Amino acid sequence: MYQNKYRFILGNFRCTIFRDLMWKYKAQDYFINANQQELQEEMDKFQLNPDHISSPFIAILLQNGDKNILIDTGAGYSDEPLVFRGNSFELKGKLVHLLQEEGIEKEDITDVIITHFHLDHIGGIYSDKAKLNFPNAKFHLPKDEWNFWHSSKSDSQIPLFKWFVENKVTPLKEEYLNLIEGELTDILPGIKAVTAPGHTPGQIALIIGNADEPLLYISDAFLHPIHIERINWRTNYDFDHEKATKTREKLLDLANSENMLVNGFHFNFPGLGHVSRKGPAWRWEYIKKS
Ligand SMILES: [Zn+2]
Repeated sequence: MYQNKYRFILGNFRCTIFRDLMWKYKAQDYFINANQQELQEEMDKFQLNPDHISSPFIAILLQNGDKNILIDTGAGYSDEPLVFRGNSFELKGKLVHLLQEEGIEKEDITDVIITHFHLDHIGGIYSDKAKLNFPNAKFHLPKDEWNFWHSSKSDSQIPLFKWFVENKVTPLKEEYLNLIEGELTDILPGIKAVTAPGHTPGQIALIIGNADEPLLYISDAFLHPIHIERINWRTNYDFDHEKATKTREKLLDLANSENMLVNGFHFNFPGLGHVSRKGPAWRWEYIKKS
């Protein structure tokens, strides 16, 4: 059985990372411009099967006083397989169930922060019956992301991704929205947005906690630790490769200079570790779990 929850203290927050579900990717999509020999070296080093790279989808709960803040919402849950253009697939995200196990009902969530509008981050906003899952929450969303997906610029995106935005984000009523703009903007006390475009046009990363060691939530700026060590290796899931590389450099410099704990959404659960510089290259090291 997989571990589905990881708890720790982060500044003034009690923090729980949940594993919504597991997915798998292929090296040919994750590292599209990798030299084959170097790719093999990385596959060996990380003990990966190039046809089956396991990847969690996560969500984070931050609790402080009467605040229950959720970061990203997983893929969502559907009783019936989702049928889209003749293809059917299962959506069995466990997030709501895992929250309930912790005594947190959907109504208890006061704030939801979404880092970007890909389906594994927004799918849990509404239920499969089109009911808002977190009816008492304020939704904090990056303004550039909102504007992109609600413009004709997003017409080139995968139709399934557009369907998710139209069904899981667009129906949110204006009075529940806080559209985040600017660099190092305070979203809530102890949580700042860092612009992180490239993976999607408006993606944000987050700096969380006021402690000596804050957490940098990198969302999907890096899909695998190999993207830290091979910063120029591109993925099929990035919108703008050059911006994605610049964002990677910016986030690594930030994490290193401020000695931040780092959390990667798709890294081995719970995805926590540190980065360091080794000559011109960067290194990733997972924390040892207690
Ligand atoms: Zn993702």
